[in-house]
Amino acid sequence: MSSMQRRVVIVGTGHAAAQLASSLRQQNWQGEILLVGEESQAPYQRPPLSKDYLAGERTADNILIRPAAAYASHGVDLLTGRRVLSIDRTAKMVALEDGQQLSYQKLALCTGARARPASIRGVGSPGVFYLRTLADVDGIRANISPDKSAVIIGGGYIGLEAAAALRGLGMAVTLLELEARVLSRVCASEVSAFYAEVHREEGVDIHTGVEVLSIEDRDGIRVVICADGSRFPADLIIIGVGVTPNVELAEACGLAIDNGILVDEFARTSDPDIVAAGDCTNHPNELLGRRVRLESVPNAVEQAKTAAGTLCDRPVPYQSYPWFWSDQYDLKLQIAGLSEGYDQVVLRGGKDRQRGFVAWYLRGGRLLAADCINRPKEFMVARQLLARGLAVDPVALADETIDPKNWLS
Ligand SMILES: Cc1cc2nc3c(=O)[nH]c(=O)nc-3n(C[C@H](O)[C@H](O)[C@H](O)COP(=O)(O)OP(=O)(O)OC[C@H]3O[C@@H](n4cnc5c(N)ncnc54)[C@H](O)[C@@H]3O)c2cc1C
Repeated sequence: MSSMQRRVVIVGTGHAAAQLASSLRQQNWQGEILLVGEESQAPYQRPPLSKDYLAGERTADNILIRPAAAYASHGVDLLTGRRVLSIDRTAKMVALEDGQQLSYQKLALCTGARARPASIRGVGSPGVFYLRTLADVDGIRANISPDKSAVIIGGGYIGLEAAAALRGLGMAVTLLELEARVLSRVCASEVSAFYAEVHREEGVDIHTGVEVLSIEDRDGIRVVICADGSRFPADLIIIGVGVTPNVELAEACGLAIDNGILVDEFARTSDPDIVAAGDCTNHPNELLGRRVRLESVPNAVEQAKTAAGTLCDRPVPYQSYPWFWSDQYDLKLQIAGLSEGYDQVVLRGGKDRQRGFVAWYLRGGRLLAADCINRPKEFMVARQLLARGLAVDPVALADETIDPKNWLS
């Protein structure tokens, strides 16, 4: 079969899928490209959903990854509002929910993740939302009003970003976190304490160590009920308790799965004709020396580029250090690396909102990660230090008189 007749079907229309389609064209894929996603919009950016889109500062059109018309002009068939139900790897066909069957020569799974269901009674009640899709946020936005109150369940990045956006819109906000501190899974206690303090200064009522049991709706009054008997009335309830990778499609057709679709460093699944990229994958990262499943835009984009190279017979291994960001109020947090497994935290700068600060994470004296709060210069340097495997004396990391750029030479 000539490359003109080859068809790649991409399942999903998130960051990974959109990048894969454009990288395939950039790498001169000559055949058809079909992008099939269950959401009704053209691919859009998810990060603004808990930030400026939630705050009403951007429209649905200006969070599109690229203008909807760009797909057709690059020869990409965009099928939105279409769910893929199953994959027949022997016949090389995918079946859509509406009965249509699509044949493929190559298949890419960019199915992402979905909000992890919370085991709370009453989650399906009106006024209760997860925060993963544009549709979720449009539902939330319809319930925003300065004279109303919101309860946010979950003190991770998404919960905290949503709290910041809703405070900016004048809502009364209560945030409930199961663990003893916010951001407990991702940050050192110093960073958690700083963020909790900032949110309290901004008027968020934070309660930690509380387990939400149920949401009751009596005569239009919603109440969040906790295990310790505390009750929080709310007009709007947002649940942000993590995500679950969408692996069912891959699992049902027999691909190898382990906390995500297992791929190699070339984004290949256990089927040579199927690649996968983004939140749904578990990939080996040579720089980290282990497998990892990441939930971030940079990972989705970089892995999609790798998958495109593989499909175009120009394989280049995926090798990039994780990085991430979070915007809350006037604070820009930029994270380089993964802090998991650290045994030492070094702070650079006082926990000062104006001047910002850095939390460096080390294990056995080796740098693992850095949380940079309003410190773009240190973030840039941290990424370089990690990528190049450069060591810095922990005492120097804390020393504000040293220009971080010196550590690179
Ligand atoms: C509110 C929010 C804020 C975030 N903020 C940040 C941030 O600041 N920085 C950052 O780096 N990351 C952030 N993230 C994470 C980031 O958005 C994800 O890592 C990224 O979207 C992953 O892209 P993806 O393409 O792998 O998956 P997704 O974006 O999840 O896209 C997957 C798509 O596949 C579709 N799909 C799944 N199964 C099927 C099927 N069977 N048939 C058809 N379609 C299917 C899904 O509906 C979805 O549209 C945020 C996420 C959220 C929700």
